[in-house]
Amino acid sequence: MHEIVEKEKLNEEMTSLEVEAPLVAEKIKPGQFIVIRMHEKGERIPLTFYKKDMKKGTVTMIYQKIGKSTCQLDTYEEGDQLQDVVGPMGKPAEIKKYGTVVCIGGGVGTPEVFPVAKALEEAGNEVIIISGFRNKDLVICDSEIEESTCADSFYLCTDDGSCGREGFTSDLLEELIEEGKNIDLVHAVGPPIMMKVIADITERHDIPTKVSLNSIMLDATGMCGSCRVEVGGEMKLACVDGPEFDAHEVNFEEFMQRITMFEKQEEKAMKRWKEEHEGCCE
Ligand code: FAD
Ligand code: MG
Repeated sequence: MHEIVEKEKLNEEMTSLEVEAPLVAEKIKPGQFIVIRMHEKGERIPLTFYKKDMKKGTVTMIYQKIGKSTCQLDTYEEGDQLQDVVGPMGKPAEIKKYGTVVCIGGGVGTPEVFPVAKALEEAGNEVIIISGFRNKDLVICDSEIEESTCADSFYLCTDDGSCGREGFTSDLLEELIEEGKNIDLVHAVGPPIMMKVIADITERHDIPTKVSLNSIMLDATGMCGSCRVEVGGEMKLACVDGPEFDAHEVNFEEFMQRITMFEKQEEKAMKRWKEEHEGCCE
């Protein structure tokens, strides 16, 4: 069992959860993820590693309330126990000296970017972070990024312009490219369409790009095959071969289609959950 040490509601949709998991904290690296299971019959929820505290033996993740399991997770409070906190899962991000790296986080993708950017900065890269949200109420991790040394420059944008620059992360990236900024690598994590648009832009400009894919994972150990994705014409499993892949090799059409494959069941589960727990997750 794993105790929830700290729970902080960041906004209406997102919450940060610090849990006791000393063995995971000891081993986990930027770019890897954790799978949690609330109870014996609970769905497995993959969440990206955001922060760790080796002294306390804890790891922190940020989840967005999106469906039944994340709404149920939101009913857990500090001091409650989670059945399983398993990790590190997946391969770590490839950290080395590239030169100038632009790390792009969209929405709840930003927590993944934070430790990756920090590691890239420590490896001697110039790191630029671009982080985008739908509106100001959903902005997260901005003060952590500003207060840490994980980036040389940080650009914040919102779709409606209510905080930072108005526009998408891809617009800011295009601006940087047009200004003549020499970019050696782009690392992007966020909504599938954001990653696809970024991959299209960087392919046109011949900029190596990595994306971290949030495919549907049931066991996250390479057994179920639900996270399979075509990369460079080959079948890969995002859980064990990824989640980081060469963006220009990913078949985004198939990827985007596969992440909606359980929509009907998800809707049904959510409807039932709302009926049983009136007022929860509105
Ligand atoms: P549901 O209503 O069941 O599903 C809503 C949508 O979430 C689905 O349409 C699908 O796109 C996605 N989803 C559902 N089940 C899964 C699953 N088993 N695996 C992956 N996606 C699923 N979310 C965060 O909020 N923060 C994170 O840091 C984060 N990191 C992730 C890292 C990885 C490697 C992966 C694969 C996913 C990550 N996700 C993250 C997505 C998160 O796992 C899903 O949002 C969550 O499982 C949804 O569960 P649900 O029952 O609440 O929603
Ligand atoms: Mg679910």
